[in-house]
Order: sequence, then C-alpha cells, then structure tokens
Amino acid sequence: MTEIKTIGVVGAGLMGNGIAHVCALAEYDVRLLDIDRARLETGMETIRGNLSRQVARHLITQDAMDHALARIRPGDGLTSLGDCELTIEAATEKPEVKRQIFMELCPVLRPDAFLATNTSSISITRLAAVTDRPERFIGLHFMNPVPVMKLVEIIRGLATDQATYDMAVGLTRRLGKTVANSEDFPAFIVNRVLMPMINEAIYTLYEGVGTVEGIDTAMRLGANHPMGPLELADFIGLDTCLSIMQVLHEGLADTKYRPCPLLVKYVEAGWLGRKTKRGFYDYRGDIPVPTR
Ligand code: NAD
Repeated sequence: MTEIKTIGVVGAGLMGNGIAHVCALAEYDVRLLDIDRARLETGMETIRGNLSRQVARHLITQDAMDHALARIRPGDGLTSLGDCELTIEAATEKPEVKRQIFMELCPVLRPDAFLATNTSSISITRLAAVTDRPERFIGLHFMNPVPVMKLVEIIRGLATDQATYDMAVGLTRRLGKTVANSEDFPAFIVNRVLMPMINEAIYTLYEGVGTVEGIDTAMRLGANHPMGPLELADFIGLDTCLSIMQVLHEGLADTKYRPCPLLVKYVEAGWLGRKTKRGFYDYRGDIPVPTR
C-alpha cells in the first residue's frame, strides 16, 4: 500500500489551513495551495497563530511548532502536488469549483496517489466520477476548527476501495482524531442533523419569533449548546450553510430542507459571518454586535 508522506491541501481557507496544521503536527510534509494568494498568506498566518496558542497552552512544544511550520510549503498551483501520495481538496463548497480542481489535478498526480475531499455535503460518488481514480477517492470530512475538533467523518463513494478506506482510517488515527463512518447521502451525518437546526434558527429570526441574541441565548442556556445556532452559523460561514441546505433540498427533495430566504439574503449581501466580519453579528468592533 502507498505510504503517505506528503499531503497536498487545496484551499487555504478556514478548513484547509486547519487540515494543513494538523497534518504537519502529525509529521506529514504538507503542500498548501489556494487560488487566491492573499488567502494563502492569511492561511499561513492563521496556522502560525493557532500553533502559538497551542504552545502557550502547553499542548505542544515550541520545537513541535517550529517543525510543523517548516513542514508546510505554500505551493504555486496544482502542478506542485505531483509528488503527493494524498491530496485533500478543501476549496469552496461549490460543485463546479471542486469538479474543475479534480479535472486539472488528476493529470499531474502520481497514478497511485489518493484523493480526498473535505466537502460538507456534495456526493462523494459524483465528485469521484469526474476523476480518473474513483476507487482511490474518499470523503474526509473534518470539523471546524480542525485543530480542536476530534471527529472526522469518513465517507466512501460507490467505487471507493478498501485500501483507500484503510488509508483514511490510518490517517485519521495518526491525527489523533476519531472516525465516524457515514454513507454517501446528502450532508452525511453531522450536517444532516446540524444544518436543519441552524436553518430553523434563521427561520425563527425571519418570522420574528426571537431576536439574534434571544435565539442564541435560548439555545445556549435552554439546550446546553456551547454556541448559539446563529453564532455557530457565522462561525461556519453563511455561504457554506446555504450550500449545504441547497444540497439537502435538492438531494432529498423534501420542503423541510428549504433554505431560509433570510440566509439567502445575507449571502447575497456578502455578509458571510466571521470570515467577512459581518453575518448575524458584526465582528468589526471589540465585541460582536447583532446585525438585526
Ligand atoms: P473558505 O471559504 O474559508 O475557504 C475556501 C478556500 O478555497 C478559499 O480560500 C478560496 O480562495 C479557495 N479556492 C476556491 N477555488 C479554488 C481553486 N480552484 N483552487 C484552490 N483554492 C480555491 O471555506 P471553508 O470553510 O474552508 O470550506 C472549505 C471546504 O470545507 C468546503 O467544501 C466546506 O464545505 C468544507 N467544510 C467546511 C466547514 C466549516 O465549518 N466551514 C466544516 C467542514 C467542512
């Protein structure tokens, strides 16, 4: 079986930089790419900041941090992934973006390289079908924030072979995380349950049942959730939340998954949550302020 030494990560956003961070700490060499140079630089800064925080909390040593940073090489385009035994795609949650990446990536990869996607909701089988190696393709769904969250959902496509599944389980364990197996159906397990709850919280706001603060306080104190659903939506990214609801709505054809029009409006405004400094809260000041 191909031994994984170098891992390519495509997309240096919220998830991509977290995946690069944990892989480098687990002593893999990492190539991190992004189509947007500024996002790649921000991604590297985020990794540095998050590693420093782990050092300050005595979770890792300064030495481990320095070695991890030295293992991450920011790449210059997909051709720099030619020697990776595994590439994990963590780009924007849009089927056409991911399809385009796989179509450009496959010709430069080693024939025995594995491919994984961190998609939150898109069919693994469908994404695998645009590659030249559906049997070596798998869903590796990390949770946000990657360095903190202990779960990885592993999703086999129809064609995924046993060696690829074993590789994914081995990698997840080496990263110190726990596996949850999910069948390849829209949004898998975590988001199938979580996202309709968030969407319902947005409907609750849309219908005036509660305010942003009221809804979040109610769910934090009333359901013992560590974060309120609107705060959590901002943390995940409202564009990602909308994409997942669209995949559920289209994939399962049930009106209970209809994305809330207010969520659509926020995304159309470019108010995508923490990453753009505005969503259901405004993050531009010292403390987040509700935006309605
Ligand atoms: P993000 O918007 O923070 O980052 C996506 C990055 O992909 C951006 O930096 C963008 O420039 C880059 N990108 C877009 N097209 C590209 C291309 N052709 N080549 C290289 N880079 C490209 O989004 P994110 O939250 O990191 O989500 C990434 C993936 O992870 C999505 O599939 C999402 O569903 C999944 N995911 C997200 C979460 C979450 O909580 N946000 C959790 C689990 C999984």
